[in-house]
Amino acid sequence: MTDRPDSTSLPPDLPTETPEPAAPGLYVHVPFCSRICPYCDFAVTPLGGPGSERLDRYRQALLQELELRAAALGADTVYFGGGTPSLAPAGFFREVASAAVERGLASPSPFVFLEANPEDLVHDPDLARRWAAEGVWGVSLGVQALDESRLRFLGRAHNASDVAVAVSRLAEAGIPWISADLIYGTAGQTPDSLREELVAIAALPGVNHISAYELSIEPGTPFGRRQARGETLAVRSDHASALFREVHETLRESGFAAYEACNFAAAPEFRSRHNRKYWSLVEYLGVGPSAHSFAPERGERFWNQRAFDDWEEAILRGEEPTAERETLCSHERALEELFLRLRTTDGLPLGRFAARYGEAVVRANRRLFRDWRDRGLVQLRGDELRGWLLPTRDGLAVADALAREVNLDALAHDRNAA
Ligand code: SF4
Repeated sequence: MTDRPDSTSLPPDLPTETPEPAAPGLYVHVPFCSRICPYCDFAVTPLGGPGSERLDRYRQALLQELELRAAALGADTVYFGGGTPSLAPAGFFREVASAAVERGLASPSPFVFLEANPEDLVHDPDLARRWAAEGVWGVSLGVQALDESRLRFLGRAHNASDVAVAVSRLAEAGIPWISADLIYGTAGQTPDSLREELVAIAALPGVNHISAYELSIEPGTPFGRRQARGETLAVRSDHASALFREVHETLRESGFAAYEACNFAAAPEFRSRHNRKYWSLVEYLGVGPSAHSFAPERGERFWNQRAFDDWEEAILRGEEPTAERETLCSHERALEELFLRLRTTDGLPLGRFAARYGEAVVRANRRLFRDWRDRGLVQLRGDELRGWLLPTRDGLAVADALAREVNLDALAHDRNAA
């Protein structure tokens, strides 16, 4: 272990380093996996039996949903998440992206991203080249671990050498953005063993983005049921905090700068073009089962039917498959903005926050913001009312708690968009 500088001395990236995303995003949920991981809480079903027939039903319904939702959205990113989009047949990504462009939902030549499992790239040596030919710009690879026992614990179908093969195939195919997703915090994991995995992931040639999320155990999943029976599956919260610091320190030393609490880029241009829209509260539309959407002008969130059959039936009836809608009041929007913004090194622009929710809110919290600064949790740049609050690494570690500390009493609890 090397000596590390004090975390509070780590300068966050300047908010001006990469412009904030402005154009909307389009998310496409692919609800199938070849098998279900025991910690997974997403809307997915196993693609058993006649898989190609179900995929084709899904493809047709998805194209119909794009037709039903046709609008001048002009998204500049189309992100295929899941589920396991890498199970989709050749031509799927181009067909869906082109349909979105034709219906106004995406701008011409959007950036296309997809999530992939390493084993799919191993089993089909030509897969990455076909994606590149289809215009796929970025791939987020579900690595999750490189330690073989952790991979088995997480129920993954690949091993560490599969990850190396998958990354090399993506790089050789010329995919410009390659992200590796990691899960940390499984029971028994030490900072040293985590460090070994992180160093190995960061050293994979071609990887220019890393996401590292703490294992979350959700009720209703196999892990949730095992935990309810008394099994220890994840590290304790104080240990998780040590692992969070290890993630940030190791990745920084490996050349990956944090730009969000769980996301790291090898250079500013490799920050996620799509996910930054969520954190910046930019408009996005989600299609496919369970997909969520956000319309900031209306302050509205809505989400699709979660079960595949319910989603498909609504579309076959010619209806948008929306399950529910909610309109956020200005208090809820302000809180959400705090939660999202304080997790990013772009931080909170106080002037814009004041313009949206009233200067009285910023004034009421000046002492609190100074206190955060004095405790090394944020840097205050510029004017106290119109400058920026930039979380340090220690601030990113407790971002949710910081957001809850902000006094929003000066805000009216209306039901209108701010
Ligand atoms: S591959 Fe991803 S989406 Fe599929 S079951 Fe595993 S965690 Fe869930």
